[in-house]
Amino acid sequence: MKVNITQKLIIYFVLILFISLILTSFISNYMIDEKFDTYLKNEHHKKVEKIESIIQSAFSQNSLYPDFDKEGLGKYVALEGYFVEIKDINNHLIYTSNRMNSKGFGHMMGFGGMKKNFRNLQSNYVEESYPLSINNKSIGTMTIGYFGPSNLSMEALVFKKALYHSILLSSIISMAISFFIIFGVSKQLALPIKEITSVAKKISTGSLSIKSDVHTNIEELIDLSYSIQDLSATLKAQDALRKRLISDISHEIRTPINNIQNTIEAFIDGIYEPTHDRLNESHEEIIRLTNLVKNLENVIHLDKGNYVLNKTYFDLNDEIKKIIHTLIPQFHKKHIKLIYESSVHLEVNMDKDKFKQILYNLLINGYKYSKENSIVHVISKIKENCLVITIEDFGIGIPPKDLPHIFEYLYREDTSRTKSTGGSGIGLSITKSLVESHGGKIEAFSEINKGSLFKITFPLKNISKNM
Ligand code: ADP
Repeated sequence: MKVNITQKLIIYFVLILFISLILTSFISNYMIDEKFDTYLKNEHHKKVEKIESIIQSAFSQNSLYPDFDKEGLGKYVALEGYFVEIKDINNHLIYTSNRMNSKGFGHMMGFGGMKKNFRNLQSNYVEESYPLSINNKSIGTMTIGYFGPSNLSMEALVFKKALYHSILLSSIISMAISFFIIFGVSKQLALPIKEITSVAKKISTGSLSIKSDVHTNIEELIDLSYSIQDLSATLKAQDALRKRLISDISHEIRTPINNIQNTIEAFIDGIYEPTHDRLNESHEEIIRLTNLVKNLENVIHLDKGNYVLNKTYFDLNDEIKKIIHTLIPQFHKKHIKLIYESSVHLEVNMDKDKFKQILYNLLINGYKYSKENSIVHVISKIKENCLVITIEDFGIGIPPKDLPHIFEYLYREDTSRTKSTGGSGIGLSITKSLVESHGGKIEAFSEINKGSLFKITFPLKNISKNM
């Protein structure tokens, strides 16, 4: 059976309350019966002893015609709600409070009225006989009658019943008050949960901009609300990334494919001669496509350590020179000088392909974001037990607001300055994770319109056998 949180809480609270009230009334009833009855029984015995002593002293003065203040005794027993009857050894009636005490309690209420009143209090009329003796010699019997289950007087029974009533009443009142408090508390809990649920439902249907504005001071619910908010922000960011990736990639792929298609169609139609230069251009477009696919493959390995490294030993300078050499024709197109300086002669233990990709990505960026007739400067050196490679250009630079984000996946400074370069914002994030997978780090320093410097630092202990 499905129940909502309010119903569930009310059921449990009422159950707990009910059990505790039953327990309280049982315990308090028991205590009242136990203590109060003991007190009253003691009182009763004292009174019986008092009556007994009056009678016995009268008998000790005159055992045949005992004389005592019958009117006084009558008043006393009537006041205490007793019936007293005294008989001598021959069972002759000497005294009865009922008959002899005309002004007593029995008379005032009428003994029948007294009985009725006690009966209302659910009590029985009880008579107890006590042997009367002087010096171990039996002189007669005294019968004391009273109403009540535990030798209680009517006042005591009334008091006890009032006590029970007050416990019952206070239980009912506290149950009613608790019910309202519980109802309020459960509403306080249920409302924000309902709000959070409705926000989560809206998020699941795609409303990612919705704000989880929950009004509560319950810490866990505030946390839950923030978590839902974070979830929606993450989903929103991922959604934006996904859309951007699809649009960027399709744009990236469309341009070289169109160029190749147009060129080949022109060859077929005889508009263009398939000259060496034109074939070379198409070849470059195909290389661009291949690189893009390679980058896409790498996206799934973006987390550090996710790469499978195929480490080999190679000469650092030789490899950097080779990379530079292959890029010189491209740089030449924009008349950019690619300079390499090194004071290092080092065999490194790295994944050669990944090292190439690191350098290639940074050099291509240097090329893309440099003006014509500029310089891209590569330096490698050893500093503080680290291999440090810097790639510096004197191009457009990176605005300070973008600098902290350029290594983020798919981050691309979205201004007209960079739109023309048609980047996808994948390169640097891949570069960073490739560097980190070799135990290194990458930093960027840049000044707008002055240029950028990318610094890669590999601790020698991670990349060299000599250390
Ligand atoms: P993209 O394919 O867009 O170049 P990257 O991840 O390589 O992607 O670079 C992310 C962003 O960082 C670029 O869009 C660009 O704004 C900025 N950037 C990277 N390298 C440079 C550089 N050398 N000079 C200026 N801006 C750069």
